[in-house]
Amino acid sequence: MTEATLIQNWKATCNRIETAALRYGRDAKSVRLLAISKGQPAEALRQIAQSGQREFGENYLQEALAKIAALTNLELTWHFTGQIQGNKTRPIAEHFHWAHTVDRERIALRLNEQRPAGATPLNICIQVRLEDEPGKGGIEPEHVHALAARIIEMPKLKLRGLMCIPPPRDSFDEQRELFARLKSLHDDLRARGFDIDTLSMGMSGDLDAAIAAGATLVRVGTAIFGERV
Ligand SMILES: *Cc1c(COP(=O)(O)O)cnc(C)c1O
Repeated sequence: MTEATLIQNWKATCNRIETAALRYGRDAKSVRLLAISKGQPAEALRQIAQSGQREFGENYLQEALAKIAALTNLELTWHFTGQIQGNKTRPIAEHFHWAHTVDRERIALRLNEQRPAGATPLNICIQVRLEDEPGKGGIEPEHVHALAARIIEMPKLKLRGLMCIPPPRDSFDEQRELFARLKSLHDDLRARGFDIDTLSMGMSGDLDAAIAAGATLVRVGTAIFGERV
């Protein structure tokens, strides 16, 4: 993809987010774009970073660490959005600013233990599995509160909110209904006194429905970078 096309796609995505926010009565600034750059070369990230994109999400550690090293001078914010394996928490704790897919206490404990002394706390989203999908990551909704209560006791983690990757749905209304479930879990935690501010939901195909339901961070890959090969 040429640099011009990439930047055009990125701007179109920013506009799409803003348009959806306004349509659903949201403040446009209340929805951030997380560019999901798995499989993309560091150069592509640099190009949109120079246009103003600050936050990037990566799913594969080795690939991510190389890009983080190549782009340190840009002072980007790095989010880990892949599945977290129990034995691979250290590089996440050491090199990322956010982890979006925390779904069990053991992973949270390791991240807390491995976060370097002196670093700002690692921002955490709990991944919630909204539907019963075998093999998919995420904690069941009924266990979210207990995990949240554990995470807020860990000094090197900062619980920021909830994340989901729901199964695809045919219609906007069905997508929105799923996202609304995550929003209501989020509101429930806030009502119980948890100081959280993030709903990480919505991807290229369903970000409008996610924004309608209250997303504060949408994770977009294909609409910016094109189909992954
Ligand atoms: C790949 C990925 C995305 C981006 O998906 P697109 O459909 O390409 O926008 C978002 N979130 C997660 C967790 C992903 O793995």
